[in-house]
Amino acid sequence: MRLATIDAGGGRDSAGVVVGDRVVDLSVPMEVWLATPRADWIIPPQAPSIGLEDARLKAPVPRPSKVIAIGMNYRDHCLEQGIEPPVEPLVFAKFPSSIIGPDAPVSWPAGVINVDWEVELAVVVGPRNSAGSPTVAGYTIANDVSARDLQSRDVQFVRAKSIDSFCPMGPWLVTPDELPDPVHLALSMQVNGVVMQESNTNQLLFDVPTLMSFCAHHFTLEPGDVILTGTPPGVGVFRKPPVYLGAGDTMVATIERIGQLRNPVAGERRA
Ligand code: ZN
Repeated sequence: MRLATIDAGGGRDSAGVVVGDRVVDLSVPMEVWLATPRADWIIPPQAPSIGLEDARLKAPVPRPSKVIAIGMNYRDHCLEQGIEPPVEPLVFAKFPSSIIGPDAPVSWPAGVINVDWEVELAVVVGPRNSAGSPTVAGYTIANDVSARDLQSRDVQFVRAKSIDSFCPMGPWLVTPDELPDPVHLALSMQVNGVVMQESNTNQLLFDVPTLMSFCAHHFTLEPGDVILTGTPPGVGVFRKPPVYLGAGDTMVATIERIGQLRNPVAGERRA
């Protein structure tokens, strides 16, 4: 199943099921749908639908309670930096207010200069199972946009990673019945049509079940919460010379069996 969030008009967001070239409107917010026990995920037979081309897709989960990100989780990304792989997942946070949907522009405040891309497989937390444990609702694509100048200046990552618009996500969730195990998926990032990142989720150091249980051991995972599983090599900061984003650029993140997430870059925001 492919689950998207659509702008249903009148300030209302709605979860929808993508069926072919149409989206069936479930008429509830995604967070409500994801908190519903999976056995009750029934598509109302008379539900209205709209053409996918006419639907305005938002991030699949527009405002989760938290966005958890994992650093240094690709073998080849550690090699690129000449560092030892971590012995346990490196967890950091992005504010949920950084989330935007497909085709929404990425921008930043005055004074930020070194803005970089990071394609990532994102896991969305679903309903609790009968034992009360969090499950995987589905997988989507995220772009962990990062201000490298702030990241190197601050002791931790939160400001560099949480600027409004720095977490594009989408275009939809692919549920585990359609994608049971996201372990051999090609993923890439193109900037202005040039392939900058190209790897495979078989390079992940800590897999999705390990990340889920590691996170759940330390804090409550709520339905809708998002875990960004880390990025492969090819980010701008480690290129020689480094490459950063600017106004007019276009980023296209692709993950096999999920789809494509495209976002234009608007650059520095004017006051
Ligand atoms: Zn990242």
